[in-house]
Amino acid sequence: MNVQEVRQMFPILHQEVNGHPLVYLDSAATSQKPVQVIEAVEDYYRRYNSNVHRGVHTLGTHATDAYEGAREKIRKFINAHSTEEIIFTRGTTTALNLVATSYARANLGPEDEIVITPMEHHSNIIPWQQVAKHTGATLKYMPLQDDGSISLKDAEETITDKTKIVSVMQVSNVLGAVNPIKDITKIAHKNGAVMVVDGAQSAPHMKVDVKDLDCDFFAFSAHKMCGPTGIGALYGKKKHLEKMEPVEFGGEMIDFVGLQESTWKELPWKFEGGTPIIAGAIGMGAAIDFLTEIGLDNIDAHEEKLVKYAISRIDEVEGVKVYGPEKRAGIVTFNCDDVHPHDVATVLDAEGVAVRAGHHCAQPLMKWLNVTATARASFYLYNTEEEVDVFVKSLIKTKEYFGNVFG
Ligand code: PLP
Repeated sequence: MNVQEVRQMFPILHQEVNGHPLVYLDSAATSQKPVQVIEAVEDYYRRYNSNVHRGVHTLGTHATDAYEGAREKIRKFINAHSTEEIIFTRGTTTALNLVATSYARANLGPEDEIVITPMEHHSNIIPWQQVAKHTGATLKYMPLQDDGSISLKDAEETITDKTKIVSVMQVSNVLGAVNPIKDITKIAHKNGAVMVVDGAQSAPHMKVDVKDLDCDFFAFSAHKMCGPTGIGALYGKKKHLEKMEPVEFGGEMIDFVGLQESTWKELPWKFEGGTPIIAGAIGMGAAIDFLTEIGLDNIDAHEEKLVKYAISRIDEVEGVKVYGPEKRAGIVTFNCDDVHPHDVATVLDAEGVAVRAGHHCAQPLMKWLNVTATARASFYLYNTEEEVDVFVKSLIKTKEYFGNVFG
């Protein structure tokens, strides 16, 4: 399938914004949705909307099969051993909070350390700050190289036998850096720590194999991978999940309820209190079918080509600084001398080009970069080189608009 055929499947892309064809370069914030996903969600509501795991009626059985079928698709997508290891969550944030609240608070104490990096998204920082507050554990940061990458030597030095948890993003939502998760996991395990991976920016774009990574937990969101908002998943090794307590209590997650005491269902349902996000899970399953059909390797290769092209074209515009290592995923974060990134994004928007500006939920990284904010263009399977050209042309216009103050 070529990129034009892929684009045909995304209705939203075929519109004008501010009088120009939309160039959507904000997929790292949330991706667009193909008709297959939109229709799967609609089909559930139109034809078999019903609660799951409860009634014995036909619609309920259909809904349960579709919901549990989506779990199996996720299992296969990341190559987990069993569906018992796949917990539906609201997204990456909720998944990481589940590990922090249930696993970490129960297993860490004042002598222990948690290791993360300064490039993490707030969702992979604040839950650990909270764990540190509640348990007395220390939160430590692995240093970054000058280009924002992680060196294994630094990882070896920061992770010690005091470390109980290492939590690192696989792909940076700002720098585009692709982190050596498999190697960091080995270092974590050698020291007796568990490895948590924030996969929000990797699962949509590259093949993920949790068995091969050998990580203990892996969190990701459907909305960044062509799926609906409000749904995602936490993978956890069964040996950990079995010992963990639920964090939400109520319907759906119980086995027996007495007046004073209750017991929980087995995995994975003990973590899914209340009516689950049924339509979202079904939509996430459809997104996985869609991505699998296109092929994660093809998506990865397409983005690699696009991002190389984008960087070479941006290099032609004087006064634009690009952040992050040379080898990167489909994310280009940049600043234009003397023009605030919000102004850059506003002028680009007037040209129909959607980019994100701000701190990207990574304030510690902004501090590390010595900036308050940046602009970010992020690419996905539906973006084209022609769109990169429009983006660069609009960047030049931005420069002219601000009286050539940069460059
Ligand atoms: N981690 C990373 C690297 C992200 O890019 C994001 C979203 O931008 C998140 C975590 C949080 O994801 P969500 O808002 O879907 O929970």
